[in-house]
Amino acid sequence: MSEDNLSAVLHGVDDLRLEQVPIPKPGPKQVLVRVHTVGICGSDVHYWTHGSIGPFVVKEPMIVGHETSGVVSEIGSEVQHLRVGDRIAMEPGLPCKLCEHCKTGRYNLCPEMRFFATPPINGTLSRYVVHDADFCFKLPDNLSFEDGALLEPLSVAIHSCRRGNVQMGHRVLVLGAGPIGVLNLLTAKSVGASKVVITDLDDGRLALAKKLGADATINVKGKSLEAVKAEIISALDGQQPQVCIECTGAQPSIETAITTTKSGGVIVLVGLGADRVEIPIIESATREVDIRGIFRYVNCYPTAIELLSSGKLDLSGLTRAHYKLEETLEAFKRTQKADIIKVFIQC
Ligand code: NAD
Repeated sequence: MSEDNLSAVLHGVDDLRLEQVPIPKPGPKQVLVRVHTVGICGSDVHYWTHGSIGPFVVKEPMIVGHETSGVVSEIGSEVQHLRVGDRIAMEPGLPCKLCEHCKTGRYNLCPEMRFFATPPINGTLSRYVVHDADFCFKLPDNLSFEDGALLEPLSVAIHSCRRGNVQMGHRVLVLGAGPIGVLNLLTAKSVGASKVVITDLDDGRLALAKKLGADATINVKGKSLEAVKAEIISALDGQQPQVCIECTGAQPSIETAITTTKSGGVIVLVGLGADRVEIPIIESATREVDIRGIFRYVNCYPTAIELLSSGKLDLSGLTRAHYKLEETLEAFKRTQKADIIKVFIQC
């Protein structure tokens, strides 16, 4: 094995450097992974541009990246289900596996979660990383390394649709046509939603959503809440959506979701925007519109693999750009144009 472990290390705002770091050794229940592909997420970019997300502040140099696939290059003594040479995807968060949340199957809520590229935990934009073997998932032969990296945001969408209880024949509104919004569109369709309408402020993003299968797209820019609501209901043949999946975090969008959802329906808050927003809470209460948060995902990787591998969900239409690890800075700059859904870095 080469000693080269070039890594993309964030030192602070707008200070992303390529540096050599030691190749880590896997513990008994871990594997060493030769990283192949890392997708850049909005959160990686936000740490680069702002140095923090909510309470998570980059105080020490941190390797970025968490949407990862690669090849197992060494296994710990107790690892049973993986072999050297296996192609895998890495679920990025390691919970404590001991607390009540972990033991009751909601490990995404574990307060001790160690999540790649969430300060102070290093991420995966390196040649080599170690990870707990039980959070590494073997990729079927018909999935690419890019599919493997996309399992991460796809898992967010699967968890969102599960929390929203999206069912066969449901009419669904997705607010926001960024990567998370379009993956929610594809996921809702794949589990049987009859119609999915999607909103955004950007015509390019909406055009892609349309190409990917949205039944209607609505550019909400400059429109009143009432006008947007009327357009949504008209696109759904005069009916209100049973489920709204909010993927912007923007106040007007959250308000649209609350006022548009059918009585008794569900809003899933995926988007993370301002800490406090004004919303019509009485409307939510009196029409029994449930507002549910989501945080990342829980037990979604196996489902994501099944959906992709079986062909039930197709990611081939997502627009992409590709860079090498040495071109990390250019890759990060490329994410700032909204014209493509995912920028990948090959390590
Ligand atoms: P993104 O910024 O690429 O996409 C957001 C989209 O929303 C953009 O296309 C933007 O034009 C659109 N938008 C903004 N304001 C709008 C409005 N008022 N109406 C309609 N559209 C509007 O982000 P992304 O990567 O797709 O992620 C979406 C959101 O999900 C982000 O807030 C992100 O932080 C959040 N997120 C949350 C979790 C979680 O665990 N809760 C996980 C992943 C991402």
